[in-house]
Amino acid sequence: MTFEEIKALDEQYVMHSYGRNPVAIDRGKGATLWSVDGKEYIDFTAGIGVASLGHGDEGWLRAITTQAARLAHISNLFYTEPYARAAEKLCARAGMANVMFGNSGAEANEAMIKLARKWSFDKYGKGRGTIITLHNSFHGRTITTLAATGQDKFHDYFFPFTEGFRYADANDMESVEAVAGHDVCGVMLELVQGEGGVLPLDQEFVSRVADLCAKRDWLLLIDEVQTGVGRAGTLFAFQQYGIQPDAASFAKGIAGGLPFGGVMAGGKCKDVFTPGTHGTTFGGNPVAAAGACYVLDRIDDDFLAQVREKGDYLRRSVEEMDLPCLGKTRGLGLMIGIEVTGGKTNRELAAMLIEHGLLTLTAGPGLRFLPPLTITKEEMDKGLAIIKEALS
Ligand SMILES: *Cc1c(COP(=O)(O)O)cnc(C)c1O
Repeated sequence: MTFEEIKALDEQYVMHSYGRNPVAIDRGKGATLWSVDGKEYIDFTAGIGVASLGHGDEGWLRAITTQAARLAHISNLFYTEPYARAAEKLCARAGMANVMFGNSGAEANEAMIKLARKWSFDKYGKGRGTIITLHNSFHGRTITTLAATGQDKFHDYFFPFTEGFRYADANDMESVEAVAGHDVCGVMLELVQGEGGVLPLDQEFVSRVADLCAKRDWLLLIDEVQTGVGRAGTLFAFQQYGIQPDAASFAKGIAGGLPFGGVMAGGKCKDVFTPGTHGTTFGGNPVAAAGACYVLDRIDDDFLAQVREKGDYLRRSVEEMDLPCLGKTRGLGLMIGIEVTGGKTNRELAAMLIEHGLLTLTAGPGLRFLPPLTITKEEMDKGLAIIKEALS
């Protein structure tokens, strides 16, 4: 089918909940994609941080197809090996006790919220289920994770929202203390606010929140859906903030392109979920779990050092171009935000880049790059050349 035919069919039969870019992607290899018209694109999006090993990675493909041929799905009523192995790898590398698998970031955060509330209920009884989150955060699109998201624009239309969330300002301890109360059971944070604009939290703020959680017996809940699985240059971002959360959620990049996610618990809340208290049909699907095992094996210390180097190189190169429409860069590892300056909006700049053959994302008022973690120097240089050509 041509792009125009695909677009016409999509517009007729798909709900219009997305502002799509005018390209139909057909296939990819590494950090390079081709549209159905045969046009080449450099990918600085990785499908919103999902294709962590790039497109068409051969080892990953072997891992998931071998598993699909053996057993594609069996449900949580039975044991499978990839499931147990993925759980062990995650816990060992993250210093956590155990894990519950789901299929997406929102679902992972929903599980983390349920875990926190039940932990507090088991220990303290009713009336202590409130979770503090931050303004400008993003935690997902279910009714509860929308309520957890500290941005007013996500609190429209779908009333009534789930109760029990209060919002504090990032990097402002007084604002956290101002919303503290006897009804609080935890604080939930992204260490780099992703959708909000790639805003890393200050180390000092994070340490002080962790101290306050310990003092008040609140759970420290870290949303690693975007920052996790190597994206920020360590396997999980909390590992470079020097904190050990009570629970951490993950999704996006974990299975290299398949829907997978979950929540890991530390010792304090490892026994909160008991049979029947939480569940999902697809969660821990063996094909996705085999993908996750493969991804986790690939992301070793050497791989992570390369993610940090590539991130530094991309940021430095963008800043050195000194383009009038781009300002300062920020972020960790290969999670990069770029300020937009001058008269054009981030969406207008992203559209110009696509036209020249580079796919990028927006976040808050800026541009955002989440390339595959395996992107090569050559692909980065091609992308940088497109930025220079399109935006000069
Ligand atoms: C993307 C994202 C989510 C939601 O994940 P979905 O898979 O879209 O449900 C939650 N939290 C953060 C930090 C995210 O970046």
